[in-house]
Amino acid sequence: MEQPKQEEGEYGYDLFPGRKTNNKGWLTQSLLTFNHKCQVMLHLATETSPYAKLLLSAMSSSGCKVLKDRHFSCEDCDGTVSGGFDANSSQIVLCQNNIHQQSHMNRVVTHELIHAFDHCRAHVDWFNNLKHLACSEIRAANLSGDCTFHAEVSRLNFGLKEHQQACVRGRAVRSILAVRKSSPEEAERIVDEVFDTCFNDHAPFGRIPHDKRDARFANRAYENRDRYHANL
Ligand SMILES: [Zn+2]
Repeated sequence: MEQPKQEEGEYGYDLFPGRKTNNKGWLTQSLLTFNHKCQVMLHLATETSPYAKLLLSAMSSSGCKVLKDRHFSCEDCDGTVSGGFDANSSQIVLCQNNIHQQSHMNRVVTHELIHAFDHCRAHVDWFNNLKHLACSEIRAANLSGDCTFHAEVSRLNFGLKEHQQACVRGRAVRSILAVRKSSPEEAERIVDEVFDTCFNDHAPFGRIPHDKRDARFANRAYENRDRYHANL
């Protein structure tokens, strides 16, 4: 189906300038080291992060096998964006100029894999339905550990549950505003409309993984479920 013609900026493509141009100048050369480091960290994330591993096997059993070379792309991005999911090409963009630590890479890979998982399991209308986008952003913020990461500090001020909800809500609103031309009020309204349903949708994790140990348990349970089915 043909997409209605809209400004590029509305879809956030201006945040990923490297996707349009393919210049192989001196700049590209000097960024090879960044690119290599990004590839190495991506490899480690997919091999060692229990969050990423669970999502990869869930996608594989849903018929959406993720191939590292085809579905991930390390690129330079504008501003402070860490990553994105390009629904047109089903590709996860990792911002090699903004990700410098393995723990950050693990969170970005997990966050974007949740979008890819949603893209795989549901017919998400990323471009025309803000509720779909909002729902996936809520799930990605809730399940990727994005909010657990900062929890240690804010836990002193708020309860853990309140922190998680407030943090997820704020991140989802900011993510929408980063990729769509929408007013903060509209973004907040849409996030609130779908919040309860999407905040409580923990698939493919059994529940919100609050730390690596939770994710490891969830991953093991998930793998055993496959094994059980395989024995039938
Ligand atoms: Zn997102």
